[in-house]
Amino acid sequence: MATGQVYLVGAGPGHVKLITVRGLECIQEADVIVYDRLANAELLEHAKPEAELIYCGKLPKHHTLRQEEINDLLVEKASQGLTVTRLKGGDPAVFGRVAEEAAVLKHAGISYEIVPGVTAGIAAPMFAGIPVTHREHSSSFAMITGHLHEGNFVEEKWKAYATGIDTLVFYMGVQNLSYICSQLVEHGKDETTPVALIEWGTLEKQRTVTGTLETIEGIAAEAAITHPAIIVVGSVVSLRDTIQWFEKESVVPR
Ligand code: SAH
Repeated sequence: MATGQVYLVGAGPGHVKLITVRGLECIQEADVIVYDRLANAELLEHAKPEAELIYCGKLPKHHTLRQEEINDLLVEKASQGLTVTRLKGGDPAVFGRVAEEAAVLKHAGISYEIVPGVTAGIAAPMFAGIPVTHREHSSSFAMITGHLHEGNFVEEKWKAYATGIDTLVFYMGVQNLSYICSQLVEHGKDETTPVALIEWGTLEKQRTVTGTLETIEGIAAEAAITHPAIIVVGSVVSLRDTIQWFEKESVVPR
């Protein structure tokens, strides 16, 4: 039996139309779709009626497919000659572990294509009226994990984030918001630096709160902002006052 094909696809940040044309084709072609919690499930409406849909976020028994199990699943299905689309939220290379899956497929001799996606760290701020760069505000931005694994948050990095980069975009950081803000101030960032949190960015239920490194923790707690949310730190946040568009009008692009 011929070996199948795997597509490792970025589903975009949430809004169902923010997937790429190529990404959508990969959904339409798939015999099997393995999808994450943050990939908009409405995209599955484009799948073939007989396609097998496998959710690898939380399963009914509250069991999450571990990365190794996902890797094995992709190999197993493709080895049966099937076309498999692995759908991930945002861009697969941004905190998406796509390289691990690609390496396993390479090792197993299975051909694959990687389809980039619109990442939440750029799209969610923009849907809140915040561009990550701006001629007068920011000539650099960093995408940073807010998961505090060992090695992610060494002193030199905090110093670099606090003093060397204009816009900081934290993924997976809501639970560590207080720590992130205090570390930035401790390492030299002004406590009046504007901060925004965008929850469920690009979806109709998107919510945004703004404050400063000093005040945002209380503001976010008051609004009960939860996962998934992007944290943006930098003076670009102030541009929201002028160019905010999505929430104000509640308009969904068509
Ligand atoms: N590969 C994804 C990121 C995966 S990490 C991408 O490129 O967007 C998961 C984190 O992404 C979440 O904890 C949250 O910080 C962020 N995220 C994903 N979708 C989001 C959305 N619609 N709104 C706000 N944050 C989102």
